[in-house]
Amino acid sequence: MNECIFCKIASKEIPALIVYEDEKTMAFLDISPCNKGHTLVIPKKHFVNLLDVDKEYLHAVFDTSQKVGKAVKEAVKCGGLNISTNNFKEGGQVVMHLHVHVIPRLKDDGLIPWERHKERNWDDNEVLKQIKAKIQ
Ligand code: AMP
Ligand code: ZN
Repeated sequence: MNECIFCKIASKEIPALIVYEDEKTMAFLDISPCNKGHTLVIPKKHFVNLLDVDKEYLHAVFDTSQKVGKAVKEAVKCGGLNISTNNFKEGGQVVMHLHVHVIPRLKDDGLIPWERHKERNWDDNEVLKQIKAKIQ
């Protein structure tokens, strides 16, 4: 039995405030929003995250994210948006079904941006080599 909460939302087994859906994707309001209008976009088929999804659904999910992003921006009249995915536990992913966060951003809304390392204890030229070697 599939215990994935977002699969259950996709199949309407459990309710959500659905703002948009089509054949492959669904968008609904986040139950614990960072700001008014915080929306999640999911594929209706189960994929764990951005590294797992196939190209067909990748395209569909970002197509819907763009569509929903435009609508959210107009609807809540925010100046900006963060459109992003958390990947794996260490990346902050709690629900292991791919979802794109569409988060309205307002001037001085108090949401904390990523902290930057002031000093780096690695060599970027080495990192560059290591990543390039793994590109498939
Ligand atoms: P993440 O940390 O990227 O895995 O985010 C998961 C998001 O799903 C969080 O922002 C939760 O508030 C949201 N969430 C969890 N359960 C539900 C639900 N039943 N309906 C809507 N949003 C949910
Ligand atoms: Zn799922």
